Amino acid sequence: MHSGWQVLVDGGRIVAAGPSLAVPAGAQRIALPGQTLLPGFIEGHSHLLLHPYDAVPWDDQVLKESEAYRVARAVVHAKDTLMAGFTTVRDLGTEGAGNADVGLKRAINEGLIPGPRMIIATRAIVASGSYAPKNDAHPVPQGAEEADGPNLVSAVRRQIGAGADVVKLYGDYRWRPGEGSRPTFSQAEIAAAVAAAHDAGRPVAVHANTAEAMRRASAAGVEVIEHGGEGDAATFTLMAKNRTVLCPTLAAGEAIARYRGWNGQEPAPADVQQDRATFQLAMKAGVPICMGGDVGVFAHGENAREMLAMAKAGMSNAAVLTAATAGNARYFGLNDRGSVAPGLLADLVAVPGDPLADLSIVARVQFVMKGGVVMKTAP
Ligand SMILES: [Zn+2]
Repeated sequence: MHSGWQVLVDGGRIVAAGPSLAVPAGAQRIALPGQTLLPGFIEGHSHLLLHPYDAVPWDDQVLKESEAYRVARAVVHAKDTLMAGFTTVRDLGTEGAGNADVGLKRAINEGLIPGPRMIIATRAIVASGSYAPKNDAHPVPQGAEEADGPNLVSAVRRQIGAGADVVKLYGDYRWRPGEGSRPTFSQAEIAAAVAAAHDAGRPVAVHANTAEAMRRASAAGVEVIEHGGEGDAATFTLMAKNRTVLCPTLAAGEAIARYRGWNGQEPAPADVQQDRATFQLAMKAGVPICMGGDVGVFAHGENAREMLAMAKAGMSNAAVLTAATAGNARYFGLNDRGSVAPGLLADLVAVPGDPLADLSIVARVQFVMKGGVVMKTAP
């Protein structure tokens, strides 16, 4: 952190940053007294096509909401996300809304609607029979594309061709409601999917909660493991060795605990405390940890809840801020953002005060610039 610095922006990029810059004639000056300027936050795990499950259960969103309705909601979610200071999202699957993320991303990039830069996964991929919704009477549409064996590689390639920037696999899931998660794809299946994705220059994100699915994913060379709820010391040691990133999604666990009646006060319910303990195990093992809350389970625009949850679970404020900016940029291969430095995209936010002293202000972003364009200023 520096006091009194200036940042010069031109053509959508940061040109210079320092204590006493030469100001070009005609430059617009924006003063942010008492505020801290930061790189735009990067949401590591979003679903812009979902909305909070306490209002409409996930099954009903997938089965009873039309794609048009879901897209209309997603347009609002995209704006809420940007106004909260999240200038990039890694959006990990449309959950039954087809390839709607491809069109959403295009509309944002063309400036038709305000929203974050999107890294998208399209439909995501699950093992046949493993996912949801379940309906014992009739086959029903699923929240992701089913594929196995050689067809898994075909699905990876089709999704990339359709617009996927990242390939999302579900490495484990509960096969029937009420039971625990079990691994889905075999080691050979994951390895083949990863090879196909990497040939196309796309990273792989794997949903995994069981230690075995996490082990398989890390061994296969995936970039990020999502959730990781049952990870143990051995799993995290392997992930640290392989430099596999963990996206802990603590805020989603907290949200679900609240939907089950938790009032947010300490002591937190056992599930929440277990997630914190697992997070601490991962930190202790030296696993790279991204900032991604699985937002969509809870309200878009409240993305900062994950940052606060990480701090609550024992990460320093500085490390949380790094994870949400430079960390996520590095973990997702986004070399053009994540820091305030010459040459990078002019994606900038400001918060009222010093977030190192009081992290809670990251939930009160006052100023948002995306690509050099001011999207929000304090009222
Ligand atoms: Zn998710």
